[in-house]
Amino acid sequence: MGWLIKGGRIVDPANHLDRVMDLRIEEGRVAEVGEKLERRASDRVLDANGLVVAPGLIDMHAHFREPGHEEKEDIETGSKAAVMGGYTTVACMANTDPVCDNAAVVRYVIERGKQVGLCDVLPIGAVSKGLKGEELAEMADMAKAGAVAFSDDGRPVTSASLMMKALQYSQIVKKPVISHAEDVSLSSGTSMHFGRVSTRLGLRGVPSAGEESIVMRDVMLCREVGGKLHLAHLSSAWSVRFVRWAKANGLRFTAEATPHHLSLDHDYLLEHPYDTNAKVNPPLRAPEDRAEVCKGLSDGTIDVIATDHAPHCVDDKDLEFDQAAFGISGLETALPVCYTTLVQDMGMSLSSLITKMSLIPAQILGLDSVLRGTLTPGARADIVIFDPHTERVVDVGEFQSKGHNTPFAGSKLRGWPVHTFYKGNLVMTERRLA
Ligand SMILES: [Zn+2]
Repeated sequence: MGWLIKGGRIVDPANHLDRVMDLRIEEGRVAEVGEKLERRASDRVLDANGLVVAPGLIDMHAHFREPGHEEKEDIETGSKAAVMGGYTTVACMANTDPVCDNAAVVRYVIERGKQVGLCDVLPIGAVSKGLKGEELAEMADMAKAGAVAFSDDGRPVTSASLMMKALQYSQIVKKPVISHAEDVSLSSGTSMHFGRVSTRLGLRGVPSAGEESIVMRDVMLCREVGGKLHLAHLSSAWSVRFVRWAKANGLRFTAEATPHHLSLDHDYLLEHPYDTNAKVNPPLRAPEDRAEVCKGLSDGTIDVIATDHAPHCVDDKDLEFDQAAFGISGLETALPVCYTTLVQDMGMSLSSLITKMSLIPAQILGLDSVLRGTLTPGARADIVIFDPHTERVVDVGEFQSKGHNTPFAGSKLRGWPVHTFYKGNLVMTERRLA
């Protein structure tokens, strides 16, 4: 049995397509995209009138917490949150317990993802053994077992020499190294961005230079030795300006921004003093930083939007600000936050948005075993169908994620996913898991 998706606005940047058309799914793949496709006897019909039909979203930066911290999230609840958010492929960071620094943990994450079967869960291996920053992890073994990238995310690779080795290896295994840029000597003991708001609230802040200096270091290491470098969660204006300059000078690497750094700044904490749901690393910075991150996204300096989905328990957040955990549970609000902020308020095209949330992540992760990030006939039928018109309030009570930690609770947003197909199966429909 196949599906005929009728009358949706099909946005498929890989094929320069943005038009109201029909789409047919057969045997788990996109079979046909065209006008007024005829219904076949075996087709189920889904009316997508007024809705946008796009390739399933791909998140290259999430924390599913399994193994080890299943009280915060596990691969099942993370997968459910993903498909509620329109994501069909999620890459998970290595800072689990045990750390994903060997082939056995890589295989475990892949297997658990397949058992749950709602979306592709792809492990990112650690750069260093135990995330200790001392000894390179077995990158080749992990790549062979299915790791799609390497990162010590959660913490930086403090040693430049180790980062250089990782980049050299990334060339051999042809997988990106994802840099979490943070100078710990500046950030340790801080809980927000250093600036007028941290001063007003009496909280210790980390200056932007703590991010910028490591961004520059890693880009220069990549220039020196080659390899595939991807910069996680850029949040500072000077990071973005440097990346723009480096790319204009011919250096090749990629960068991402998160929905929260694109939509919020530290003024949120003036309006909601000490709200630990807005405590995140890197921190929400000044309005001028946010403006430059948005500009960098629209001018192509920043290639990807990634969630940095970081779910926590109430106990980890219901603490004094400087004691609370860092992170935002982001998968279920990423598309509406980005649609509302970037498309509705800033006039970005839907095609650019989908490019950064699906097509480019697929290219960077080199997921060529199946064609994805596009609706080209033959591609796997991973599809998000979302509603650009209806406004809904973010209700954390509806979250599938165990993490209810979000500063967007109560926000009115548009662009909510309504249906998600994974491998041609409807895994979420009418905002409920199928
Ligand atoms: Zn990080």
